[in-house]
Amino acid sequence: MSPETLLKEPLSTFEVEEFNHYVMNTYGRFPIAIERGEGCYLWDTQGKKYLDFVAGIATCTLGHAHPAMIKAVTEQINKLHHVSNFYYVPEQGQLAKWIVDHSCGDRVFFCNSGAEANEAAIKLVRKYAHTVLEFLEKPIILTAKASFHGRTLATLTATGQPKYQQHFDPLVPGFAYVPYNDIKAVEDAITDLDEGNSRVAAIMLETLQGEGGVRPGDQEYFTRIREICDDNNILLVFDEVQVGVGRTGTLWGYEQLGVEPDIFTSAKGLAGGIPIGAMISKKFCDVFEPGNHASTFGGNPFVCATGLAVLKTIETDDLLENVQARGNQLRGLLRTILQKYPGVFNEVRGWGLINGLEIKAEHSLTSLDFLKAAMSEGLLIAPAGPKVLRFVPPLIVSESEINQAMAILETAIINCLG
Ligand SMILES: *Cc1c(COP(=O)(O)O)cnc(C)c1O
Repeated sequence: MSPETLLKEPLSTFEVEEFNHYVMNTYGRFPIAIERGEGCYLWDTQGKKYLDFVAGIATCTLGHAHPAMIKAVTEQINKLHHVSNFYYVPEQGQLAKWIVDHSCGDRVFFCNSGAEANEAAIKLVRKYAHTVLEFLEKPIILTAKASFHGRTLATLTATGQPKYQQHFDPLVPGFAYVPYNDIKAVEDAITDLDEGNSRVAAIMLETLQGEGGVRPGDQEYFTRIREICDDNNILLVFDEVQVGVGRTGTLWGYEQLGVEPDIFTSAKGLAGGIPIGAMISKKFCDVFEPGNHASTFGGNPFVCATGLAVLKTIETDDLLENVQARGNQLRGLLRTILQKYPGVFNEVRGWGLINGLEIKAEHSLTSLDFLKAAMSEGLLIAPAGPKVLRFVPPLIVSESEINQAMAILETAIINCLG
């Protein structure tokens, strides 16, 4: 059977084997194939319906087959989909303007993924350090333990989780790690790393750690980090790849903390599930010149028109209000579950529509056990490490869909505890 027909029919053992024969083994896949989506629902090749609280890992901002996205991609593909950054791309300018008008940033660089956006931020920090910041020879970027910044070599090094780095030595020099939400550790590291022509040039943090277990940033910690950066000529970089674009109930995660970065990155939800990345900086640290950095596909007409349609829909459909209301509802119901099963779950954490339910460390069941049980009952959720269930539905999710998801989750929990 050819790969084209593979996903159009129910998965048999043979089809799974054929897929694995041709595709690199970089993911632990569940034995289903999704064929169609509408709103917050998905259907697999066997016709089974799921409520989608994964949303392509927090990317499908407007859910599936949203009319605004269909209109934008259809119109743009009929007009022009890709040229090159040799020329001015009006859609790119419009998307950049929208982002700048709705954030603390001044300038935007477009690429195609979160890792690439962070890679661009790392390069910008280094050029700034070499050319402006006391002409540092060895700038160091401080990141947090349990962080996630991507899979390219530099962003993998920035990621403060040894499990992702194993076997990929030698890593990129110029990174150091501190525990998240611990201000003393940051102060100590800045002092310890200050040596000759080398020192901390930037601190790079997620405003809420997504992959690392849905851990929101602490407001006092971030306020103090901003002061430390200002006092010591250190750039503050926020990785907003997962939490940006409305997911937290504000457009950017940093608004939850009342602290503005010098540089921030966006990707996942920015074009509703069409690949895009963006690195946004304040004017003072935008030191890139022609030839310094580039991306062939970055900011092409197709993706920028789509991104613009997604962002405008967040505005016109009052989706931030929906995220706040549905987030409160979801956390309320998760807390009810927490109270019902005190021996199983530990904590509910999150902002807006990025929420985590933590399983007690000493409990034998893992996030994967609950995830599989929920899947068989028709609810898709994502893990955030071995002990946290992550709920990141599309921002259009309705009150009844939240209720339905939580009812399914409870059935799954009962089945799991059997
Ligand atoms: C997903 C993610 C990335 C990596 O994005 P890719 O598009 O997979 O490269 C980086 N940072 C954070 C916080 C993420 O959640």
